[in-house]
Amino acid sequence: MSEPNGREIIKAGRRVGVLLPLVFRDAFDYRVPDGMEVKAGDWVRVPFGRKSMWGVVWGEALGEVEENKLKSIERMAAHLLPMTQKMRAFIDWVAWYTLAPRGMVLKMSVPVPEALEPPKVEPCYVAAGNMRGQMAERETTHIKSTPARLRIASYLSDGVPRTAREISAQAKVSANIVRECIKAGGLVQVEGIASLPVLPSLAPLPAPPALSPDQQAAAALLSAKLGAGFSVSVLDGVTGSGKTEVYFDAIAHILERGGQALVMLPEIALSVQWLSRFRARFGFVPVVWHSGIGTAARREAWRKVASGEARVVVGARSALFMPFSKLGLIVVDEEHDASYKQEDGVIYHARDMAVARARHEKIPAILVSATPSLETEFNISQKRYAHVHLPSRFGEAEMPRVLLIDMRKEKLPSGSWLSQPLKAALLATVTKGQQAMLFMNRRGYAPLMLCRTCGHRFQCPHCTAFLVLHRARGRLMCHHCGYECAVPKACPDCSHENTVIPYGPGVERILEEARALLPDARIEVMTSDLIDTPAKAEQLVMAMIEGKIDVLVGTQMIAKGHHFAGLALVGVMDADMGLAGGDLRAGERTYQLLHQLSGRAGREKAKGEVWLQTYMPEHPVMQALLAGDRDCFMALEADMRQQADMPPYGKLAAVIIEGRNEREVAEFARMLVRAQHKGNTLVASGAYQDHTPLILGPAPAPMSLLRGKYRYRILIKATRNFALQEWLSTWLLARKPPASIRVKIDVEPYSFL
Ligand code: ADP
Ligand code: ZN
Repeated sequence: MSEPNGREIIKAGRRVGVLLPLVFRDAFDYRVPDGMEVKAGDWVRVPFGRKSMWGVVWGEALGEVEENKLKSIERMAAHLLPMTQKMRAFIDWVAWYTLAPRGMVLKMSVPVPEALEPPKVEPCYVAAGNMRGQMAERETTHIKSTPARLRIASYLSDGVPRTAREISAQAKVSANIVRECIKAGGLVQVEGIASLPVLPSLAPLPAPPALSPDQQAAAALLSAKLGAGFSVSVLDGVTGSGKTEVYFDAIAHILERGGQALVMLPEIALSVQWLSRFRARFGFVPVVWHSGIGTAARREAWRKVASGEARVVVGARSALFMPFSKLGLIVVDEEHDASYKQEDGVIYHARDMAVARARHEKIPAILVSATPSLETEFNISQKRYAHVHLPSRFGEAEMPRVLLIDMRKEKLPSGSWLSQPLKAALLATVTKGQQAMLFMNRRGYAPLMLCRTCGHRFQCPHCTAFLVLHRARGRLMCHHCGYECAVPKACPDCSHENTVIPYGPGVERILEEARALLPDARIEVMTSDLIDTPAKAEQLVMAMIEGKIDVLVGTQMIAKGHHFAGLALVGVMDADMGLAGGDLRAGERTYQLLHQLSGRAGREKAKGEVWLQTYMPEHPVMQALLAGDRDCFMALEADMRQQADMPPYGKLAAVIIEGRNEREVAEFARMLVRAQHKGNTLVASGAYQDHTPLILGPAPAPMSLLRGKYRYRILIKATRNFALQEWLSTWLLARKPPASIRVKIDVEPYSFL
């Protein structure tokens, strides 16, 4: 479908294509009714099935609907800004790249349908007369606490009418108190609509920190890119070198120019420290966007982003699809983080899509990391991305000392996981009044329950996975589908009682061992199942910052960007764990995780120590961490990938075929591969590049059963210049699976399960 030139007016009587936020690839045809004119990008209400819904005028009609069946647009959305041409082009591109239905991509940009409804005109209030006085008078009778009411009074002291909701949010009082004030006559309703929240005032900014010469140089390189069209810069610096400080400087410049900035963080729900740092630097709170915020907050955020009123958005992956009107900069912090890969629905990598969005918006993107991904390093080497380097930690802080503990030589008694040297270091650290962290990347108490008599292992009935013992909850749980059950007394196989034992360590078991070793120390645990709200995470992080915790035991949650000044020791229980399995990026990821984890230690005065317990001390990952030689390790990884023609040197796609009936799934997968072998002659005849890709499979996926569905996998390997998307769509989109089967296409897969 072609885009009408610019915003060409489409007059009444003509047909247009309207894209709906549903699982469809193409726009649907509608007639522009009498008395209406539309342009591409306009939001319009159209009948669909028995309902009606909002969609976007996408361009010319496909002309597939017969004239007598053609329906008309119901109305235009006067209250919604048209979707920009750049945003529409971005959505088209994402749909092309991921092979996802375009309507699904549109849906990601409208995460709550309510965002599209016209705003309700809410009543607004001002403070009555001398509210302060009235309040004080009533205090003696039935209104008790005054601080809340005084906050309302001072918030409304400028005389601007505001909604009850705004008053409650901004004056930080409960909705109930506002209602009471209205009833008591302290707040008076006035004519008019809700005031627009005031723009953050940029004038009284606190003085930004003086940048070091290295930081200044980096900041200058970045600010030279602002306003100069599309570019990608990689801000590469060791943990604690001041990368955040440097990209804050770029954000400050964009704000001065009146633009918007988008900052992507991998674990936004955990980013309490980041948010308070931002507020301290800029004097306002950015719009926070992630799946955990409520519908009302989403709706409001979405509108303020569209109007340009929200100046800075910080969010997880989905923030990329917000309708920014004045976007001037995208920052992707911790760009190497695997959680940027979205694995359900539209399967995409948010870092790559951020670069694509920047390209469509013609603005700079900054990718930030202490351990840039191999993909990013490759782009630097190809001169596509600029390299901006911060070589050392800020101030006097030094990089921590890394030590390896050869676990083959540690003869640990069974049920014990802390080696002697680590125990000694832990004791010494806590005795000195310093803080320590113990890392074990496995939730629960034990990864496997085993019958000592018959060897029975407890498996999830819906997945190819063992059930994990969570002793704190007294349950066995599947980490893939959420299935859980009570811990059985007897073995279901041999019926013996009291023979079922936990096997192997999980983080709860490490906690138990640490508590036994240091009975007087304050030891806490941080995992996503136990710390499941941002508030709980904040509490724990604050306790750590304030020195109220001696030892923090946790999973990857503790590796993320925290800055704990008193942290002197990091112990990694099982440094090799990530190296097992056939994952393409296993080495790279393990290196990044362990590097990031060790980056938590010794960030201020205390010199940090990192102890890695490993069964493979000679492994290149361990040796690189020991020597602090990232570049050497990455060069080795790059070599291996290049020799195998693996990404980023070649292209890869995974096709997952899922369904409840294993035979059907296997048959459909085989049919797909057969169809391609026939089609190959056509492909080779010159329509595409000269090579045909390599098709591996079909084979049962390593997780051959997941949430009750059988899974087969086909891998496609092609050279870098191969037109993979066109080839995949010709192959797959024409072959509709039966209703019982789903085909998922994953371009550049990160998960090989
Ligand atoms: P990174 O993002 O590279 O890990 P940060 O920006 O978090 O580094 O900086 C590490 C610490 O050093 C933070 O506490 C930060 O406030 C401090 N810091 C960095 N640069 C400066 C500076 N120029 N002036 C004052 N403090 C700084
Ligand atoms: Zn399961």
